[in-house]
Order: sequence, then structure tokens, then C-alpha cells
Amino acid sequence: MKILLASLLILLHCSVYSAEIKKRAVIRDENYNAKIEEVELPNLTSIDSYEGKYFKIVNGKDNKAIRFDDSEDLQLKAATTYYHINKARKFFTDVVKSKYVQDLPQITVRVDLINVFNEVGHFANDNLDPQFNNALTVPAGNGYEPKGIKPWGIEVWFRPSKEINIKDFKGAVDGVGLKQSLVNFRNQTHMANLQSFITSILLGNTGTGGGISNSNDMRLVESSIMIEVIYQSSDIAAEFFSRKIYRLDAALVPEIIYHEFSHAALSDHLELSHSTPVNEGLADYFAGKIANSRKLAMKINDYNLFNGKQVRKKQQYQMAFERGEYANTDFVFGLLWNVGATVGTDIETNFVYRMTSILTTNVSIRDDLINATLQTCKDVCKSPLNDRIKLYKLYNSKNF
Ligand SMILES: [Zn+2]
Repeated sequence: MKILLASLLILLHCSVYSAEIKKRAVIRDENYNAKIEEVELPNLTSIDSYEGKYFKIVNGKDNKAIRFDDSEDLQLKAATTYYHINKARKFFTDVVKSKYVQDLPQITVRVDLINVFNEVGHFANDNLDPQFNNALTVPAGNGYEPKGIKPWGIEVWFRPSKEINIKDFKGAVDGVGLKQSLVNFRNQTHMANLQSFITSILLGNTGTGGGISNSNDMRLVESSIMIEVIYQSSDIAAEFFSRKIYRLDAALVPEIIYHEFSHAALSDHLELSHSTPVNEGLADYFAGKIANSRKLAMKINDYNLFNGKQVRKKQQYQMAFERGEYANTDFVFGLLWNVGATVGTDIETNFVYRMTSILTTNVSIRDDLINATLQTCKDVCKSPLNDRIKLYKLYNSKNF
């Protein structure tokens, strides 16, 4: 009885404290602009650090959570990631009712980590190809006892920002130099949308783009909706000084946080070790839904490459989108967004989530993804026959 009482008191103690803790974080206002505001941190279990029931935010390779008396810069990243990743989790448990997410053990979130991921060693050597301006979600690992490397669970990593002068790429305009710097950049950006964004700037400006772009500004808009939205609305997190310098503080961008957690939430069927157009497009789709903003939805309707109202040259399906250099996650994102609108906004997130249960890691857009939507429609659509006809029409119009 005494023990019971004591633990009850501790429980009460914790919940009282956690209900009161507010911190400054980057959020979006009604107009979708980024601003810093005090928010309440949900599900905290610590009274002096960013550790909660579902997430622990740490600095770099640390194991202990970032503390409430750490530097303001670090705390802004900790509070922003903590607040938004809890919001993303809540979407998956409450809206699409994911049992898998409900049962996920506590996830460690690392900010300001520059190390490359290593499947055996967890972190690659500090000096090996340090990473900036991006984020990724890494699979759990067994560790390696002889070297004292402990097992770890799924983790979300955010890299520090670092200014990159676009000139550094353009200096090497001809052939090998440019190609190599692009490859290096792609390796650093993980998120395919960022890759296509930066690639479009560079290729567009140098005129070696092989007909990808007519007008630079247009191409910027078309290259990635998510990035365009970030560009237009987050002076805090992403700065493009006259678009000559590029830097991105991924831990301060709510949509990137949603995107990364979506990878974790879908990892029962889509492995974290592979980045494909389908799983990146799905992560963007759920990021867009978690953001739950009318303003964002309007931008996506206007600018998605699939059938955006403001997009001059809408894209038809091409085999080259499936993988490799021309893999196109924006196309998949636009496709999913339109499938959602076709089956009905009241069931769409459920529909897309149900569909992921019949997908596997290396599925193709043309056969597997399309078939999965038709299959899911049989079970979930309000009028399965009519809605499938609508989906067929949508796909036909895109050269599938
Ligand atoms: Zn991703």
C-alpha cells in the first residue's frame, strides 16, 4: 500500500508538472507564416528536460535529453521538434488509428548531429563526410557488443544548418566537377524534394539542364511544393539570400518534422533504409495532412506537378520517375493528393493509410501503387465501382 501510494504521488507529481511546461517553439500562424510562440509540451515525463513518454530530444550523439537550462538556440530546436513530432504521432494514433504507431517504443530524436548513419556502428566516424541542411529517419540496430555499441531503436536525425554558396556548385560548370558536386549534394539532402529543388536551381542557371526548365522562377515553383512552401513562409528556418546562399535548419521546419515521423509511422511496411519515390511521396502526403492547413492545401492544389492550377506544364507519367536520377517524389505526392480528392476528403487519410498496408519497400508507381489504390478502393470507397472508374480516368489522363 505504501509503495502504491508513493508511486501514485510520483505519477500525480509528474502529470502536474508536465501539464504546465511551456516553451518557445517555431509554429505556423493562420496565414502559414513561421513564427516563434510559447507552446505546451505534451506527454513530458521529465520536469527539467525534453524527455517524454514517446520522444526524447538529445543533442548530437548524447544519450541524455536536452535540458531546460541549455542554450536558447538548442532549446528552440528541442522544443520545436518535440512539439511537432508529438503532433505527428497523435495524427497517426487518433486520426488513422495506427496500432503500429500506438505500440512504438520511445523514439530518440537527435538535433545538430553531423555523423553519417552506419548500420553496424550506429554513427560513422566524425570526420567522415559530415552532414548539414537535412534530416533523416534511421532504422533500429542490434549494436555491436565487441566494440561497446549498444542496440538502438528507430531514431530521427536533424542536421545543423550550414551556408552553401550556390556559386560553389556553379564554379564547376563543365562536366565532371558539376556532376560530382551535385552527387555530393544529393547525398547530403536525403529528401528527394530538396534534391530536385537545388538541382533545378543549378541546372536552370547554368543552361545545361537538358530542357528541364524554361523559366527559372517557374521551375522553382514547380520543383517542389513542400520546399516552395518552406521558402515562402519560413524566414526563421530557411533562408535563401537572393537565392545565392542556401541553408536549412531542418529541426525548425514543422513539415520536415512531420515528413520524418511519417517515415517512422509507415516503417512496418516501408523500410527506413530505402528512399524511393513512393515512400518519399507518401511521407510528403502525410506531412501535408498533419499540417492541416487550408493555406497549404491551396498551395498544393495550385502547384502540384500532377494537375496544379498554376502549373504551366503538367507532367505525364514517365518510366524515368520510378528510380534513379529522375525519380520524382512530387509526382507521387500530386498523385496521392488527387487520389484523396477523388475518393473523398472525409475518408482520404484513412484510405491512403490503409493502402500502405499492401505496399512494400521497392514498389513501382505504375503497377504497384496504382493497383494498391484500386484494390483499397474496393474495400474503403463509398461507391467502389464509380470511384474506381474515376480513378481509372485520372490515371489514363496521366499516360499510365
Ligand atoms: Zn524522406
